[in-house]
Amino acid sequence: MSLRVGVVGGGQLARMMIAPAVEVGIELRVLAEQSGMSAALAATDVGDYTDADTVLAFAREVDVITFDHEHVPQAVLHALVDAGVAVHPGPHALLYAQDKLLMRAKLDELGMPQPRWAAVSDAGELQAFLDENGGRVVVKTPRGGYDGKGVRVVSAATEADDWFATLAEDAHGGSLLAEELVDFSRELAQQVARRPSGEVRTYPVVETVQRDGVCAEVLAPAPHADKRLTDAAAHVAITIAEGLSVTGMLAVELFETTDERILVNELAMRPHNSGHWTQDGAITSQFEQHLRAVLDLPLGDPSPRAPWSVMINILGGPAEGGLDERFAAAMVAHPAAKIHTYGKAPRPGRKVGHVNASGAELDDVVYEARGAASHFD
Ligand code: ADP
Repeated sequence: MSLRVGVVGGGQLARMMIAPAVEVGIELRVLAEQSGMSAALAATDVGDYTDADTVLAFAREVDVITFDHEHVPQAVLHALVDAGVAVHPGPHALLYAQDKLLMRAKLDELGMPQPRWAAVSDAGELQAFLDENGGRVVVKTPRGGYDGKGVRVVSAATEADDWFATLAEDAHGGSLLAEELVDFSRELAQQVARRPSGEVRTYPVVETVQRDGVCAEVLAPAPHADKRLTDAAAHVAITIAEGLSVTGMLAVELFETTDERILVNELAMRPHNSGHWTQDGAITSQFEQHLRAVLDLPLGDPSPRAPWSVMINILGGPAEGGLDERFAAAMVAHPAAKIHTYGKAPRPGRKVGHVNASGAELDDVVYEARGAASHFD
């Protein structure tokens, strides 16, 4: 088999596609933003992903283009499609991962459960939404947010003045997204893979724990998830994957409310932090599954290998001492834990790696994963 996949973006998600690509026999090429990035272990071009000519030249070396992130401009994506390049996910799907306002409108159209929301273009409209929704709401910039940047809880319309001012400077104008402040008992994520010819495969729904807006831990499957909940989460993810014609991996971030409903928070159309556990805890990892899906190959079995898996992010890295000596200590103390690193220099708050552990008892698995991850505090 000589299949060539081009990944736009050189971050850790592209890096983690490398091992399964090698195993399956896929040639992986990366278009990285700079040299020396996480995915530099693969054949790498360095170039600007917002420049259509650069991305087109990269695309000529491969059979299919996919992504490490969702920031490639629509004009560039359409230039690829117009040139006959296979792009997965395609521009029409990616649009809804790029713009949270368009996503909310589309999810309403598909009848998906979601928080009450409105597009607000000035402080008056935000105040009206505040008045209708208990005086405390969430405001989001529709584009470009990640890891909680671009998300703010406000109780007065003036608290979003700076964002409205930025909108006013934008030639295209636009609105902010206002959402009810959801009273959630926990956050969940449901992943599904879909290939262009239509096959879909869902992973178990997982619980995600965020700290300061950043994913800290994932428990797979989500504890205390009854059939009604798992069926509902799978139904939502499949409906979105099919309704938006997503190809590749889709992650649907969900809130479980205190009155036991699930609501869609946001979408990611690529491998996702909530699925890193699958590298060691599922028969087919999300990275292999993404490659299979974008190449329209038969999908792999997403079943767990063990009753429980836990993933813990290594954030920032150690304040003192290099990562290397910490790894050695963690490996000695926790030989059953799987430590993954992204080849990134430690910086406060930066995701530099993660730890996976699996086993029969959730308490033991949490202990193992936290113990190994604690070496990097
Ligand atoms: P990002 O795109 O930066 O990941 P999200 O939209 O996922 O932003 O929001 C980040 C976090 O903020 C969520 O994981 C959740 O904890 C919290 N959050 C977002 N929207 C709401 C909401 N409507 N109600 C309550 N909490 C929310």
